[in-house]
Amino acid sequence: MSVRYDLAIVGSGAAGISAAINAKLRNKNIIVFGNKDLSAKLVKAPMIDNYLGLPEITGVQLKDKFIKHATDMGVEVTAEKINNIYAMGDYFALMSNDKEYEATAVIVATGIEFSKPLPGELEYLGNGVSYCATCDASFYKGKVVTVIGYNQESVEEANFINEVVEKTYFVPMFKGNVALNKDIEIIQGEPVRIQGTDKANLLILKDREIKTDAVFILKDSVSPEQLVPGLEMDGLHIKVNRKMETNLEGLYAAGDISGKPYQYMKAAGEGQIAALNAVGFIDSK
Ligand code: FAD
Repeated sequence: MSVRYDLAIVGSGAAGISAAINAKLRNKNIIVFGNKDLSAKLVKAPMIDNYLGLPEITGVQLKDKFIKHATDMGVEVTAEKINNIYAMGDYFALMSNDKEYEATAVIVATGIEFSKPLPGELEYLGNGVSYCATCDASFYKGKVVTVIGYNQESVEEANFINEVVEKTYFVPMFKGNVALNKDIEIIQGEPVRIQGTDKANLLILKDREIKTDAVFILKDSVSPEQLVPGLEMDGLHIKVNRKMETNLEGLYAAGDISGKPYQYMKAAGEGQIAALNAVGFIDSK
């Protein structure tokens, strides 16, 4: 049986880490999902001049300060991607690639993904297009699958898919070592669109096409509607009120994912608001 956490925080940027610290200060049993470097948007910032009390700090320095603060308070980041969050009534079930977690309340602090979906991606999602290897690979036993991989984790996921399917193509969308099983075929190129009839069956790249039974698109983040079925959106953002509550009781959102301006301090402030309201919700149970 899974451990039931008081609070699960999905995302380890300014919003998620601020939420974690505030919930920990209220003695809650929490789990934070994200990555060990916290956020690419922290690490990549050359110079930050508007973080209160910490002028002229680089993103890497601010990330190190966040990590020290969190670690000193006993907050650790679990380096796992959450693929789905389901409201189960009196708790939430959170699914990573190979585990299931339970929490009374959840804060979604996943940041915002600016890259647009490929033409055809949303049209065929669930119909030959998938974002989750462990959820969907078994549907393609004996078939041809193409993975568009945006990170190192996608390499592991492609290796897993390849154990199940007949043939795997891998289109790397990142620089670095691609340690794939040798029977996976690497295709260098820029994906342009996904085509099909009743199901996706063709990935068009700039200079070639791949006939395929499925396209797995494996990125760091998952769109909020895909992550949490039934979540109400406001355009690109999760719809929240001033308490950072969403339309699902016990589920909160904070940071870039809940709206502009996209700024560290706004994200950290919202993480705090979400955590304090989540604590009130947990205590009322
Ligand atoms: P993010 O920082 O985006 O963090 C979200 C985290 O959640 C990421 O680690 C992601 O991997 C993780 N995640 C996403 N989905 C999942 C999932 N399904 N499961 C597990 N983990 C998941 N702002 C300023 O205020 N001042 C600046 O000077 C400034 N400079 C910037 C410079 C650059 C180059 C960039 C790109 C941004 C800059 N920003 C600046 C904006 C700032 O980076 C964002 O507003 C801030 O990072 C938002 O924090 P967040 O916690 O909402 O999300």
